[in-house]
Formats: sequence, C-alpha cells, structure tokens
Amino acid sequence: MNSSLSIFTEQLQDITAYLAGNSPLQALALIHEISSSTYQFATPKQRIALLLLKAQAETQLGQGHALVTTLNEALNLSQDSEFALERLHILHQLADQIYTLGDYRQSIQLWMHCIELGLELGEISSAILAFISIGGIFNAANEHGRAFKLHQQAFSYCSNIATPKIYCIIRLYLAADAMWLKRPSDTLSLLDDADPIIAQNQFYHEQAESHLWRAQALLQLQQISAAISHLEQGVQCAQAHHHYWAQIKCGHQLGLAYLQQARYFDAEQALLEAQAIAMDNEFTQLLRDCWLALSQVYEHMGQAQQALFALQSAHGLEHHLAKSAPILELEPRILKRLAQLETRFSLEISRQENRQLLAAQAQQIQKLKQLRTEVEQDPLTKLANRRWIDAHLPQQLLKINDAEPLSILLLDLDHFKQINDDFSHLAGDEVLRDLGLILQHACREMDTPVRYGGEEFLIALTGLNLFSAAKVAERIRTQVLAHKWPTSIGGRILTISIGVAQAQAADSLNSLIQRADQALYRAKSLGRNRVEL
Ligand code: GH3
Ligand code: MG
Ligand code: MG
Repeated sequence: MNSSLSIFTEQLQDITAYLAGNSPLQALALIHEISSSTYQFATPKQRIALLLLKAQAETQLGQGHALVTTLNEALNLSQDSEFALERLHILHQLADQIYTLGDYRQSIQLWMHCIELGLELGEISSAILAFISIGGIFNAANEHGRAFKLHQQAFSYCSNIATPKIYCIIRLYLAADAMWLKRPSDTLSLLDDADPIIAQNQFYHEQAESHLWRAQALLQLQQISAAISHLEQGVQCAQAHHHYWAQIKCGHQLGLAYLQQARYFDAEQALLEAQAIAMDNEFTQLLRDCWLALSQVYEHMGQAQQALFALQSAHGLEHHLAKSAPILELEPRILKRLAQLETRFSLEISRQENRQLLAAQAQQIQKLKQLRTEVEQDPLTKLANRRWIDAHLPQQLLKINDAEPLSILLLDLDHFKQINDDFSHLAGDEVLRDLGLILQHACREMDTPVRYGGEEFLIALTGLNLFSAAKVAERIRTQVLAHKWPTSIGGRILTISIGVAQAQAADSLNSLIQRADQALYRAKSLGRNRVEL
C-alpha cells in the first residue's frame, strides 16, 4: 500500500513534468494508465491532484467539454472542508471554462459560489477575481455600461490590496468595457497603465488580451495597420501559451482587419485558423463569429457558394446558442444576490485594508526603533555612543538636586596604542569589545555605559555622589586589571585610568565632562591605572 502511494506520487511528478514540457498527450496517456492501476490506492487529496493535472492537460489541448467533466469530478471529490481551498480553485476554473463555452447562467452561479467561498476562507483575491468575472458576463449580454461600472467599483475597492495579477486583470476588463462603449482612447490609456506590469511579471495570457483590446481600440480609431500588428502579436502570444480563447479572438479580429485592407487571402487564412481552434475547443459563439466573418470574406472574393455555406453554418450554431444565454430572464434575482455579495465583499476588503494598514504602521514603528538604536549605538562594542549623551544627559543634568545627585566616570585604557602596534588593530578591537562587556556588567540596569571615543568611555551614574561614583570606578579599575583578555594579546595585562566628577547645579554638559577629563588627565600623569576625583 505504502509503495503504491509513493509510486503514485512519482507518477504525479512525471505528469507535471510532461505538462511543463508541453507534452499534454503524454501526460494524458500516463493519467489514463494510472486510472486503471494505482488510482484505487490513492488518497482523496492525490485523486484531486491527479484530476487537476488532467484538467491542465485538457486545457493545453483545448478539450473544452472533457475539461468540464474532469473539473466536475474534482469538484465532487473536494466536498470535504479539508479541501476547501482546492474546491475554490476548481470552482474558478470551472466557471471560467463554462463561461467560455457560452453557458452564462451556470458560470454566474459558479462565480457567486466562488465569492462566497473566497470570503469564507479569507481568500480575498479569489473573491475579487470572481466578482470581476461576473462583469464580463454583462458584456456578453451587451450590458457594457453595467460591466464598466462593476469593474470600476471592483477597482476602487481593491486597488490597494490587489496583487499585480488582479490589478492587471481589472485594467484589462476596464479596457475591454471602454472599447465596447466606443471609448477607444480610454482603452488605450488603461492598457498603457497595465502593460508595464504585465511585461514585468510575464503574465502571458494577459499580454495576449492586451494586444486584443488595444487592436480593437485602434480599429475604432481607424488605425488599421497598427491594429493588425497587435493582432498578429496577440495570436502568437496566445498560441505560445495555450490561451485559445484569446487566440481565436485575435485571429477573428485579424481576419476582419485584413478584410478592411482588401487582403482577402490573408483574411481567409487567419479566419480558418481561428475557426479550427474554436471548433476543437467547442467555443460555439466564437465559432459562429468566425463563420460569419468568413462568409463576408468569401463574398468579397466573389465565391458565392462558399459564402453561403459559411453563413448557413453560422446560423446553425445560432440555434444552439439561443438555448444557453438567457441572461436577461435571470437578471433581477442575480442582481439582487450580486448586490448582497458586493456589500459583504466591500466590508471584507476594508477590513483587510485596515489590517494591512495596522501591520504597515507596526512595521514602521519597529523600523524607527531599530533606526534609533542604530543611530545611538556603537557598532563595535554595542554600547551607546556619543549621540546618546547629547540626547539624554542634558535632561538628567536639569533634574539633579541634593537627594538625586549625578556623577560621571571618564575612562581611558592605558597605553592602548601599544596593543594595536604589538598585536594588530583586530586584536585591539577584541579588547575594546571585552571592555564593553566589563563596563556593561559593572553598571546597574539603569546606567548606560557609552563609548565616548576610540578607547575612551563615559558612564553617567544617577543617584551617586562623587565618593560612591569613585567606588564604582575603583571596582571597574580592579576588574580591568584582573581581566583575562583574549589570547590574541598573548596574556598581556591591561590597566585603565578613570576620572570622576559630580555634577554641580551650574554645570553644563561640557563643563561636567571637562572636569572629569581633567581628573582623567591627572590619573594619567600620576602614573595611570588609578582613579582620580
Ligand atoms: P594613554 O595611556 O595615554 O591613553 O595611551 P594610549 O596609547 O591609550 O593613547 P592614545 O590616545 O595615544 O592612543 C589611543 C589609540 O587607540 C590610538 C588608536 O589607534 C586606538 N584606537 C582608537 N579607536 C580604536 C578602535 O576602534 N579600534 C582599535 N583597535 N584601536 C583604536
Ligand atoms: Mg585616549
Ligand atoms: Mg588610552
């Protein structure tokens, strides 16, 4: 059983590799083989994974109806709440596919389901995607104004939280809506906005669609040659990345554009290619559109017989289509439910925005704190630096009185230059780091030892008068004397000289430090390794 499972996992990897290598037929063959062997041993999760791979292969092959069957099967397997995320993913694919196949009624239901499940699972992006897809249905029902409004609304809700992908998708929808509303310059500027992001992120499907809508806007502006160039690029891009819908749409438009330039042969070629793919994929509307365009082309070519045949084929499909797009009949109920979902949706989005805002604020505060520490910290010893003195000592000086005195120590290593000279600057650094630790431990929690300069340190001792401070200084002096320094200075004994001064009421920061410095100078001239007041 266990070995079957691992075989299954390996097989899934093989299928994934086939798909990545653009060999969907081989992937399907292996899936077929698995279905009659190891499939019975697979866990539900693995079965769903297998079906999703199958769906991917069928997408690559443009097998529209088979894809729907596969996705429905996967949907059945994903009933359990454990698979809610997979379910959401499947619902999305299914809705997209069913929409492309022309069943608007069912796709709108599926997308609403996506919005609900997406909100439930906190998958806002997914909910946004479903919401804007529903706008596409309004376009299909010739309700372009309504589609534009819905997409604008979606954009205003979520431009702050949208992923780059969703940002581009909404821009593309809006561009298409503007095109349908005969506002080609709006289409162009919306695409100008999205194109750099599309290119940067290599969103190939969106790239193909961008060419499509740009070309249609250019056609409205009578810029036929520019439009043709975009349509040709659109066909190529869509073909390279299995975006059949866009490939057919671009091919169809290309045929019409060639027709405008009286390039009948090119027009026929483009339309026949588009028509073949529409047929394979069972995209009925698009197939009808291709037949209609072909009949026009044949008419211009003077081939009446073929023009008639194309027209008859188009009409044959019309009958089939009439059954699957009764959107107006559904409208009031759908719109009501949509409005309810929209309210929930905008609420959830503003919640999410709030969360993001708070997180961003917390991050900024954290950064500020870090910056402050960096600014007031010496990188070598991790002690405070001089900037800390300027920021904190003047206030402490203002607060002194008899009950709350303040003293400072100024400390300087003796003959430290010799350590650098005898051992190396790095060894010197190690000594300074050690000394930092000694000072930190010698201080109380409330005292802040400061690296004042190269090998000079300052400690402000609040609440201590001159004599108590001198005791602390003496303790530090003996600790330094007794300290075992890193081996890099070869057992050398180090000493420190310390000047002590107590703040007086009239003292400025400068005058106080100066007195401590004078005491330190005395300690040095009296032979070093001593504390002077
Ligand atoms: P004195 O007993 O008179 O204080 O003698 P000294 O050698 O300690 O004094 P001096 O001021 O002549 O030399 C201080 C030395 O400290 C010079 C400089 O190279 C060294 N120094 C300053 N900052 C650093 C540092 O960050 N790392 C290291 N390794 N050495 C430093
Ligand atoms: Mg010095
Ligand atoms: Mg020194």
